[in-house]
Amino acid sequence: MVRSYQKSSDAFARATDVIPGGVNSPARAFGAVGGTPVFVDHAEGAYIFDLDGNRYIDYIGSWGPMILGHAHPKVLKAVQEAAVKGTSFGAPTEAETEIAKRIIAAVPSIEKVRFVNSGTEATMSAIRLARGYTGRDKIIKFAGNYHGHADSLLVAAGSSAATLSVPNSPGVTRGATGDTIILPYNDPAEIRSIFSRQGPEISAVILEPVVGNMGCVIPENEFLQVLREETTKAGTVLIYDEVMTGFRVAFGGAQSLQGITPDLTTLGKIVGGGLPAAAYGGRAEIMDHILPAGDVFQAGTLSGNPLATAAGNAILGDLANPAVYERLEMLGSQLQDGLDRAAGKIPHSVARVGSMMTLFFSPEPVTNWAKAEQCNTHQFARYFHGMLQRGIYLPCSQYEAMFISHAHTTEDIEATISAAEEVFADWD
Ligand SMILES: *Cc1c(COP(=O)(O)O)cnc(C)c1O
Repeated sequence: MVRSYQKSSDAFARATDVIPGGVNSPARAFGAVGGTPVFVDHAEGAYIFDLDGNRYIDYIGSWGPMILGHAHPKVLKAVQEAAVKGTSFGAPTEAETEIAKRIIAAVPSIEKVRFVNSGTEATMSAIRLARGYTGRDKIIKFAGNYHGHADSLLVAAGSSAATLSVPNSPGVTRGATGDTIILPYNDPAEIRSIFSRQGPEISAVILEPVVGNMGCVIPENEFLQVLREETTKAGTVLIYDEVMTGFRVAFGGAQSLQGITPDLTTLGKIVGGGLPAAAYGGRAEIMDHILPAGDVFQAGTLSGNPLATAAGNAILGDLANPAVYERLEMLGSQLQDGLDRAAGKIPHSVARVGSMMTLFFSPEPVTNWAKAEQCNTHQFARYFHGMLQRGIYLPCSQYEAMFISHAHTTEDIEATISAAEEVFADWD
């Protein structure tokens, strides 16, 4: 039953000659688990197929966007119809107004929305807007939260080393991160304390309202309440980074589950239906500070391009049906129970919100980065490769969430649980 990865392995060697590390985004390399990445030939529904002809049940879903499954017929049709009319104009189209209206209808805190091309651009632009709007410099982010790779946000950004305001990456200057304050996630006392000392200097707080980028970590209610209270009192802009959670944990995002109204929200991943698109939006009074309505600069040659807006309109149209999220919840709870049972006595905890979840090799629930760091990543690597051999494609790091799509069936979930039972059976 041993699967061959020979063609992937050859392809990876060729890629490594011409692309740094052989990949165009580091999460795709198997750095954290060892081995060489699987090269994809094609994908359909819940499955991906590699160059060697192996089929996998896919729980990455392009790291989030594929909530309806791969190559969804409606999305393909929308993109094909848009493409024949031209792939980019650099001039406005009505499809942009249409998708803006869909987003505003889904996420009530958003009154106006601007389209960009990646989640990185969305968070970077939202931070600039918050600073321009408040006339303040400082921002707060949380250790283990990832907001893309803009310099000021590339501190304590998930799986890399998390030290106080020390940049994660060479090339990020101390100047670029000097106004970034790092706090632990889920710690309301720390928030109260920093706001009592520095509240009037803080332009924005940005957070993942359910974390995906240190694995799935669930926020505590008091943490969320205190954040909203303190930012309101201080006139600080509260930014919900829902690039991952938007249209994933619920149609209206994490904020709709939590009953919190942020000032700005960033979206990405699902909103582009698998094409490069992202967005940021919020209160009209703040959003109208963006050029050309206001004077905060932000632009993009391909922003709101017709292919991405067509895909986004198609996917959001289908997601407006609550039955989609009911099914995702049903599949999610089936998988959570099954993995929990399969892992048995191995120290572990499973965190899940809807169709987003992580099996942590940690005896305690993971609530912040310090706890996440205590996970047994060697056990994760062993689990990952055992599952891959059995045709289950999981995120290749303990610190990434897995995603279920609407295309997964209860049989797929059962097959996944059986694979996990086999993997854990000979584990001592
Ligand atoms: C993926 C992600 C980003 C970055 O989006 P890109 O499109 O990869 O630039 C930002 N924030 C969160 C929460 C994300 O999950």
